[in-house]
Order: sequence, then C-alpha cells, then structure tokens
Amino acid sequence: MDPENFPHKVSYRNIRYPRIEFTTGELHFVLPLNSQYEELSRKHERWIQKKWTFIQDCLKESEKRELIQRSNDEFKGLALSLIIKAADELGVKPNSVYFRLMKTKWASISSKKNLTINKLARCLPDHLVEYMIVHELTHLKQKRHNDHFWEIIAKKFPDYEALEKELFVYWFRLISER
Ligand SMILES: [Zn+2]
Repeated sequence: MDPENFPHKVSYRNIRYPRIEFTTGELHFVLPLNSQYEELSRKHERWIQKKWTFIQDCLKESEKRELIQRSNDEFKGLALSLIIKAADELGVKPNSVYFRLMKTKWASISSKKNLTINKLARCLPDHLVEYMIVHELTHLKQKRHNDHFWEIIAKKFPDYEALEKELFVYWFRLISER
C-alpha cells in the first residue's frame, strides 16, 4: 500500500506534532511547518492502512443509519439532563455548557472545564448522546485517552468500542447529507 494512492490533503500548521485526520472521510495530514509529508506517510503506512479500512467500513455502515429528528430545544433539554446525570455519576462538575456548530467533532471539553456540544449532535440516538457526554465528562477525571480513561468509561459502557465506532458512523451519515 502506498499512502500516495489514497485521496488525501496535506496542510501545514504551527503545531508541534503531526496528526492525521479523517473527519471528512478524506485522509488529511496536518503537519508541523518544517516537516516532510513523504517521510511521515511512509513511517505510518500500516497505521494509515488500518484507519483507512476502518473509515471505509464506517462509510458503508452509515448508509444503514437514520438521523434522528429533534428540535434544537428538544436536544438541549435532553443533553442538559444527561449532563446532570453523568456529572453526578462521575462526581465531576463542568463549568459551563455551550451548544455550537462544530465542523470536526461531536463535543469537546476545555481545560477550563467548559463543555461544548456540537448542535449537529441533535441527530444522534439517545444512547449515543449519553455516551458522548459521559466520554467528554470523563476527561475531567483523565485528560488523555489512556488505559485509565477507558477503564472509567468501561464501568458504564463495557461496549464502548462499538459506541465510539457508531459515533463515526453517524458522523459520516451526517456529512453525506450535506
Ligand atoms: Zn476524548
């Protein structure tokens, strides 16, 4: 496999570490300003291949999913009640909650403990809204996606790997509509 064969995009940003994004279903290399694309793509060839296969699988699955129809208010109500429940269960306290349109993720949490939920997440089924919220709030206990993080998640969601994948599947379903 040669990464050159994948449809891809390369951007250079003022960052320290290279990353590879797949948010649009297209391979996107985001590289530090002075790095070499060829070198990195060759070095991570197997990882890219694995990711690519995963993405193709998600894209295929996404055709079978239906987006949930909810109003913005309905979604906010649901999300806020799930945030209160999850924060209580995890023993954490987010600062503020924002609902915004985001282009690359369902939700995020800042170092100031502000939780931002993508407004587009109103199309997710209830159980995925809940999972997404628990995932983000768990970052208040553990910032990184390390073993400790997944141990906490697994207590409530033993099938978290399938749920993480579903979030990708719905993401692709959503972008295919636009
Ligand atoms: Zn996370």
